[in-house]
Amino acid sequence: VRWRASKAFAALIVVVAASPAAWAIPIPPRVALAPLRTGWPALKIRVDVRNTTGADDTGKLTPEELRSRLVATNDVWAQCSVEFVARSSENVSAAAMDLPYEPKSQDDIQRVLAKLFPNTPTEAIPVMFAGPWNFFDPAYGVYLQGIGWYWMDGLGKVSKIGAMVATQRLFSPIGGALLAHELAHALSLPHTAEPKNLMGAAGTMDLTLPQCVQARDFAHSALKGFLQ
Ligand SMILES: [Zn+2]
Repeated sequence: VRWRASKAFAALIVVVAASPAAWAIPIPPRVALAPLRTGWPALKIRVDVRNTTGADDTGKLTPEELRSRLVATNDVWAQCSVEFVARSSENVSAAAMDLPYEPKSQDDIQRVLAKLFPNTPTEAIPVMFAGPWNFFDPAYGVYLQGIGWYWMDGLGKVSKIGAMVATQRLFSPIGGALLAHELAHALSLPHTAEPKNLMGAAGTMDLTLPQCVQARDFAHSALKGFLQ
């Protein structure tokens, strides 16, 4: 659910501001991580991407920019031969939907989710770039910059699923890993005590073989309708 402000990332948290100029931070050349197991069939999972924009189109992304964030995420998930494919991706004016462009609480986050994706997802995982937010969440005791989740109903079907990240870090060097981390939650992966892991306190890009197996098994069993 959260990304602890580890030493490695703490410095990055403060560099960014909600100005378009900050989004032009150069991104290092992409390096897709090698699959941890050879012979895994590529597992393609559909997502619907929504990026909220502020006044005067603040934070509006070009189609290429929208796509590039998934590319960076897929470079991390390549370890598990998992690829997230955008079924749709678009900008949405926060004001037009009566939403806060800068969510300041869990309640605000819930409102964004309910407005952007009112229906139970059955074919694509909702992914939201929900404006520049970075608020202290007393429930978790951390500054919240992203969340990812899934809920099962009594019949083993997914009733809620999604990932949401703050936009100001999306175009930092860790942007792909941040979204990859939240999507890992959506694929049932919890945090791990191993710090040097995508789901660990130090927030590296590494996934383990058991994590890949769990995520792939979850997708095959609970997300059949989401697979391309
Ligand atoms: Zn987390």
